[in-house]
Amino acid sequence: MQAMHLGAKLRDMEFVQWHPTRLDEPVPMFLTNGLLADGAIFRDASGRPFMADYDKRADLAPRDILAKAIYTEARAGRGLGTAVYLDCSPIPEGRIALRHGHLAGTLRKHGVDFPRQWLVVSPATHFLMGGIAIDTNARSSIHGLYAVGESAGGLHGANRLGGNAFSEGLVFGTIAGQHAARALSLDGHTKLASAVADTVRAEIDPTADDPKAALSTMWHTLREEMWQDASVVRDAAALARAAQLIGELTEEGTRLRGRSPREVARILDFRAGLQCAAVIVASATYREESRGAHWRSDFPETSEAWFGSVWVTWPSCQQHPTLQFKHLTSRPPSL
Ligand SMILES: Cc1cc2nc3c(=O)[nH]c(=O)nc-3n(C[C@H](O)[C@H](O)[C@H](O)COP(=O)(O)OP(=O)(O)OC[C@H]3O[C@@H](n4cnc5c(N)ncnc54)[C@H](O)[C@@H]3O)c2cc1C
Repeated sequence: MQAMHLGAKLRDMEFVQWHPTRLDEPVPMFLTNGLLADGAIFRDASGRPFMADYDKRADLAPRDILAKAIYTEARAGRGLGTAVYLDCSPIPEGRIALRHGHLAGTLRKHGVDFPRQWLVVSPATHFLMGGIAIDTNARSSIHGLYAVGESAGGLHGANRLGGNAFSEGLVFGTIAGQHAARALSLDGHTKLASAVADTVRAEIDPTADDPKAALSTMWHTLREEMWQDASVVRDAAALARAAQLIGELTEEGTRLRGRSPREVARILDFRAGLQCAAVIVASATYREESRGAHWRSDFPETSEAWFGSVWVTWPSCQQHPTLQFKHLTSRPPSL
């Protein structure tokens, strides 16, 4: 968000990847898809397996289809709140010992009779395909500012293939480092405009209340709203509700002050979270189709007209982001 406010262009912010099997209890963790490959199945609250209703590959469908099915089941009231069961009992003991020994040990230590006892899992955010737009040298639109990894956007299209974050980090980290070093030796240092110290100073008020409780409530409200209205499946009405609530929280957040740089940092972190949510919601509203990780129930088809990227600019002098669609003219060769 700092880069965006300095003028960097973002792209693809509507593409948020969800992981289908997040375990909250008894230990919070993401469960490997290997469990499904080895025979685990999803069941609704009544114990009925449901994935075959959604895809002919059933529980072996890709992550985004699994996440969407769980979300749909839960929304229809057939789940356990936002979750469903993951039944790992079909996985043979030998396979558990070979591939899931660490998980089995951790769960058993916490009193779970794994794999016999069903686990309770729900979708959770996993990867943001969007981010700072970069060129092939990892340069952003701001001179001297490079971006790689999850802060960069555009490398994974509308949906990342599992494992590609690692290769992306290695490849683009190397490219960015080499290019930055070369640019430094040719051009010398580029000083980026930074007003962080001034911003922090301006937000300090020794008479303010401790913002901790207010921030905790506001983070909770924001997360809840993003889950309800801007998560796995979206539509225009839900996204409008999300935008409205983000606007209200932004007003509240603007009034918060901290008594120390540490408290101000927490406030600025929350405001950045709000801005990120605002950009995701604006981009998701703008793209009126379904593609990759972006599912619109009011525009369920993929449309050729939307073959391209939504670019976002939101310099700090502007009250709202500016969105622009750039059509892609060439396609990568098919595999
Ligand atoms: C559960 C899970 C499993 C995954 N498994 C895989 C996998 O098997 N293969 C794969 O390819 N990808 C996987 N991914 C995705 C991959 O891990 C991430 O996309 C990748 O780590 C992103 O790298 P990054 O360097 O951009 O960000 P991060 O790894 O998040 O690193 C950012 C770093 O910056 C630090 N930082 C943040 N703010 C500041 C600040 N203000 N000042 C200084 N430091 C700061 C953070 O502490 C952190 O160390 C997985 C992701 C999750 C959530």
